[in-house]
Amino acid sequence: MNRIVLKKVSVLWRGFATNSHVDGFIGAIGNTPLIKLKRLSEETGCTILGKAEFQNPGGSVKDRAALYVVKDAEEKGRQPGGTVVEGTAGNTGIGLAHVCRSKGYKCVIYMPNTQSQEKIDLLQMLGADVRPVPAVAYENPENYNHQAKRYAESISNAVWTDQFDNIANARAHYETTGPEIWAQTKGTVHAFICATGTGGTLAGVGRFLREVSAKEGKKVESWLADPPGSVLDSYMNSGGKLMERSGSSITEGIGQGRVTQNLATEIGNLSGSMTIPDEKSIEMVYRLLDEEGLYVGASTALNVVAAYELARKLGPGRTVVTVLCDGAYRYQTRLFSRKWLESKSLNIPDHLRKYVVLP
Ligand code: PMP
Repeated sequence: MNRIVLKKVSVLWRGFATNSHVDGFIGAIGNTPLIKLKRLSEETGCTILGKAEFQNPGGSVKDRAALYVVKDAEEKGRQPGGTVVEGTAGNTGIGLAHVCRSKGYKCVIYMPNTQSQEKIDLLQMLGADVRPVPAVAYENPENYNHQAKRYAESISNAVWTDQFDNIANARAHYETTGPEIWAQTKGTVHAFICATGTGGTLAGVGRFLREVSAKEGKKVESWLADPPGSVLDSYMNSGGKLMERSGSSITEGIGQGRVTQNLATEIGNLSGSMTIPDEKSIEMVYRLLDEEGLYVGASTALNVVAAYELARKLGPGRTVVTVLCDGAYRYQTRLFSRKWLESKSLNIPDHLRKYVVLP
């Protein structure tokens, strides 16, 4: 009896011993859990799963892209000690600042000057050189992305990582997020849906799931979810003829005015798209807290609403996967403030109002 117990302990111990560490910040990126959302799954008769990207060491889905665009620069001959320059309003900058610190690169971030002081402070604490510039449209040469590109070209041994159009971003998800989802669902996933900023997540995961399922004679569908104010839903529903937008959104990091190179790699293979209104996204921020104990940002909430609606459309018995992009910590002074919600005319159902704790 004792020998059997000892043998079990020793097998367990060997399991821990072989997996006892990862290599630095970079080694900790990825392999995030896939969380079953119990209540929403029960309501739809489907299995609704969220990839817990907020568990990445830099706190968001963008750690993966940040690592891959830096690796891409290295593969193209960057010297150690160089400078990484990017235009970003949020999570990519945070991911890049971490990755650059861990690899010994300088990190310069151009961002629109409309961004919160918290984000600027965090990037500076992570060692980045933050340059807020006037918030102007992409077509304007003074747009933060164009300024980032010009600055990188003006100094020696620097690279502009170009997260929107550098497809190393989508490759991160093709090589890591997609295979993880396939393995974690043991190939039972039917559909994947998420919103896009650069489009890297949707294009990379979507392409991997499409290709791997085709090898088994199956088809995993991928769908695009859009916030108000983005042109992509109109683009999808008009067969690529229109790029209309209406309204604006409280969500951050998602919504687009163009088809980026990352999204272009897979947009033609998507099964459909849907726009999710802010009223539904904000309610889901609070529902996820109340029902699942999950503290997530508004883009995550939008993704979960979209997964729920897709599950309803596909019918019971399906497995639908989406992305839990980041936590609410970066947005809490807005999302949990009564005044802010009122200023956006967003109403929280009575039974969830207890979570609106800030004035
Ligand atoms: N959610 C948040 C909070 C983000 O910061 C981003 C990236 N901008 C996304 C979703 C979308 O990810 P992707 O760039 O891969 O489309």
